[in-house]
Amino acid sequence: MKIDFKELAKKYGTPLYVYDFDYMKEKYNRLKSAFEGSKSLICYAVKANSNLSVINLFARLGSGADCVSIGEVKRALLAGVKPYKIIFSGVGKSDEEIKEALEAKILMINVESEAELKRVEAVAKELEVEARISIRVNPDVDAKTHPYISTGLKENKFGVDIDMAKRMYIYAKNSPNLDPVGIHFHIGSQLTQLAPIKEAALIVADLVRSLRAIDIDIRFFDVGGGLGVRYDNEELIDEKEYAKAIKEAIKGLDLTIVMEPGRYLVANGGYLVTKVLYEKKNKDKRFVIVDAAMNDLLRPSLYNASHQIEVITKSTGPLSKADIVGPICESGDFLAKDVLLPPLKSGDLIIIKSAGAYGFTMSSNYNTRPRAAEVACEEGECRLIRKREEFDELVANERLFLKDR
Ligand SMILES: *Cc1c(COP(=O)(O)O)cnc(C)c1O
Repeated sequence: MKIDFKELAKKYGTPLYVYDFDYMKEKYNRLKSAFEGSKSLICYAVKANSNLSVINLFARLGSGADCVSIGEVKRALLAGVKPYKIIFSGVGKSDEEIKEALEAKILMINVESEAELKRVEAVAKELEVEARISIRVNPDVDAKTHPYISTGLKENKFGVDIDMAKRMYIYAKNSPNLDPVGIHFHIGSQLTQLAPIKEAALIVADLVRSLRAIDIDIRFFDVGGGLGVRYDNEELIDEKEYAKAIKEAIKGLDLTIVMEPGRYLVANGGYLVTKVLYEKKNKDKRFVIVDAAMNDLLRPSLYNASHQIEVITKSTGPLSKADIVGPICESGDFLAKDVLLPPLKSGDLIIIKSAGAYGFTMSSNYNTRPRAAEVACEEGECRLIRKREEFDELVANERLFLKDR
């Protein structure tokens, strides 16, 4: 939908996150329909954008949730996701988290090590339940993405190798408190090539076959998330080809395909709206200083990620290169580098695109900056879905050391 950013900035202030729910819905439906004819379940990866309204949007469409902390599990439940569609992933879970996940009767806990399998078993035994689990296999394939978001190589901390996975499945089958129902891989994020996913799927499907041969009946084939999006001019994986590759890999096996897309669903449906404070020049280097910063959107600083921008200004002067920077006391605090901009005045708006994933969720209070407000737009209507933080909330949990002495 056409969003009036100027109007929203006036109404809710800046910096402001704005989400296009119509776009996010379209992405969900496109992916879901690519898998038509197969049993499939999309479990939205909550960490990409965890606002309750965003999770609820996908829940309304029938989505489950992929969660990496018990906090995210609770968010998903609060947002209306059915417990039997929730997966709890992540490389380290505390006993308390495992207990709460079992009590919530979620679909499955995704186990990432032998030690964790034993912990899950012990907690399940204490609760006198059988824990549904899947095991995250690290297929040792190169996802060909940024090293910080590559997770499927043996040097990455995630998952277990094929041989270990097999031993763990046999152990789980023989335990009265473990029910191995799924198998899982997730080789990285912002994937733009299908080949590594296909390779991983084939490796993991072979493992499913060899498990079936020894009577271990895996039902859920969880291919993780990681589908890339276009920030600049990246190649994209076609949804239909993605579906085809996975269906081919599991040919002859009766499995429900589980997907955990995060970025794919939300990245390009989100915008960070920021206001120009002023310009400055150091010799001939031009800086546009805005009211959003790395605490609001970390991706440029963390991954050197580039985001397209749009400027809303009355100015018509000549374009020249500038860095768009925030007020934070770090040289790494930039939102865009060397972009061509007209002369800008205080109050002009800059819209940073593709900010719907790993934007707000990675934001912080660094420099005692309150986190931005969030607004969602659906079918022509925009509503506040998170109010801007206030100073009092930032210090609410702090106590003066000297007070009660
Ligand atoms: C982060 C994560 C995802 C989502 O990744 P995207 O690249 O945002 O799709 C899915 N599954 C697991 C286990 C993850 O850790």
